[in-house]
Amino acid sequence: MTNKYIATPTRTKEILGKYHFTFKKSLGQNFLVDVSVLQNIIRHAGITKDTAVIEIGPGIGALTEQLAIHADQVVAFEIDQRLLPILKDTLGDYSNVNVIHQDILKADVTQVIAEHFQKDQEVHVVANLPYYITTPILMKLIRDRLPVTSLTVMIQKEVADRMSGEPNTKSYGSLSLAVQYYSEAKVVMNVPKQVFMPQPNVDSSILQLTIRQQPPVEVTDEDFFFEIIQASFAQRRKTLKNNLSRFFKGVHDKEKIEHILQEAGIDGIRRGESLTMEEFAQVANSFFQYEPK
Ligand code: SAM
Repeated sequence: MTNKYIATPTRTKEILGKYHFTFKKSLGQNFLVDVSVLQNIIRHAGITKDTAVIEIGPGIGALTEQLAIHADQVVAFEIDQRLLPILKDTLGDYSNVNVIHQDILKADVTQVIAEHFQKDQEVHVVANLPYYITTPILMKLIRDRLPVTSLTVMIQKEVADRMSGEPNTKSYGSLSLAVQYYSEAKVVMNVPKQVFMPQPNVDSSILQLTIRQQPPVEVTDEDFFFEIIQASFAQRRKTLKNNLSRFFKGVHDKEKIEHILQEAGIDGIRRGESLTMEEFAQVANSFFQYEPK
């Protein structure tokens, strides 16, 4: 049975040959050809016959087929028009799959969930993402506060490490804090290049984001909080005091900056990479009191 699945080198080559399909590197087309990796993704994502799934970039349907087998309903967004007739053919046996021809960055996913899934049904996002737009896609999906429980995605290892990064590590930075403000992030598995066709140039990991119902910290102004974080990592090797002095140039002098950091209970000689999210919230909330209203 397994050798009939789309996610095998033989079947994939057969489908590509039948449709004279050529990969578009610009669309991040690296198809999965290993069923056990797909089943691992699905197991980690907690997919059951009661759950609904949003997939991004079904390709020729390798992951979509496994999702159709394990989930109740699947809606997949695909940007490449050439793949639509192929998907119609490869997924023809699965009546619980809908493919939408649309750029995920332009899609109203909340609307699609309301239209396609049962009210109150548990929804998960599962995807082997196009690597050229991993961060914009994930940030859009988590910031839009979609009614989804989790996102389980194959992405480049380096980005997965940054998104799940902890303080005082090389991977920790503004992306870690942005992602972890909206979700709990963990790398569930590293994946070798050999499971893709064609093989990408970078290593891959499966990242899982579990959406938070409430942010982990209280901030007075979210935009300002993220601006302070960006500014604190502007020059990684510089102290918090120096980075913030640059950011507030012409607004607060160095003494004032030190004073406000003291109020926040944070030593200005520390580097941004040593601060937890809680500490960044303290810093941002203290500085926000001095913003012109
Ligand atoms: N899911 C398939 C698999 O695992 O074999 C294909 C994954 S491939 C890494 C990424 C897919 O995303 C491609 O099919 C590509 O055409 C599609 N894609 C690229 N940019 C997209 C976008 N902005 N919106 C929707 N799909 C996109």
